Amino acid sequence: MRPLVTLIGAGPGDPELLTLKAARALAAADVVLVDELVNRGCLAHVRSDARIIEVGKRGGCTSTPQAFIERLLILYSKENRNVVRLKGGDPFVFGRGGEEVEALRAQGIEVEVIPGITAGTAVPASLGIPVTHREYARGVTFVTGHTKDGTEPNWQALTRSGTTLVIYMGLRGMERILSSLKAAGMDATTPACIIENGTLHNQKQRVATLGTLSGDGFSGPALIVIGDVVRFARVAAAVPKAMAA
Ligand code: SAH
Repeated sequence: MRPLVTLIGAGPGDPELLTLKAARALAAADVVLVDELVNRGCLAHVRSDARIIEVGKRGGCTSTPQAFIERLLILYSKENRNVVRLKGGDPFVFGRGGEEVEALRAQGIEVEVIPGITAGTAVPASLGIPVTHREYARGVTFVTGHTKDGTEPNWQALTRSGTTLVIYMGLRGMERILSSLKAAGMDATTPACIIENGTLHNQKQRVATLGTLSGDGFSGPALIVIGDVVRFARVAAAVPKAMAA
């Protein structure tokens, strides 16, 4: 039998936002390699005799090097164990899932991907923000605030696009991002918000405008959402939040 690794998206935080397919695959796993961003409540589906390996990778903190994670995945799957790689949100949205698939396929290991709900839609939705409301946005653009090579996106093109901007990993570079958007011609009165620990009991948000938004008091993981749809934000969200582990 050809070795197989299952790459699973755990969703944005609240363990109830894990898919049924993901829960079933977790229950069948012998080994689970889990990212730090994944809420520990998602591990409730894992059998008690399965091995859970924590491979944290938070920006700026001590992390397990990507190459080491890939080596572990290869090692365990070649032992014919049922290996699951569990990542936050969706594994292919800023999750380096693509790199892991490449590394595994290069070793002749097949990968099944179980998508997850990405933070980019679920976290704004927790405040009632409809990222593509057709009266206010032509679409939505997911952008990273932190690129591998330090290059910047084309802020002018993004400003002209008329799409809601959802910026992942943007907290540390927020001042630079907001001033780049203003310099690119985006109106300073455009609604903008930061949402930290979205869908969890410790969720925190600040709703302001492009000209006034400040990241003080936030330490992440957080999304920045910019666009007219942010007007829909209900800051006292009525939805009960899941407990963080
Ligand atoms: N694959 C993930 C994203 C990984 S990049 C996904 O699809 O959601 C990590 C970044 O995602 C964080 O720095 C933050 O910008 C964002 N993020 C993930 N979970 C979040 C949450 N619960 N609340 C706010 N932002 C979150």
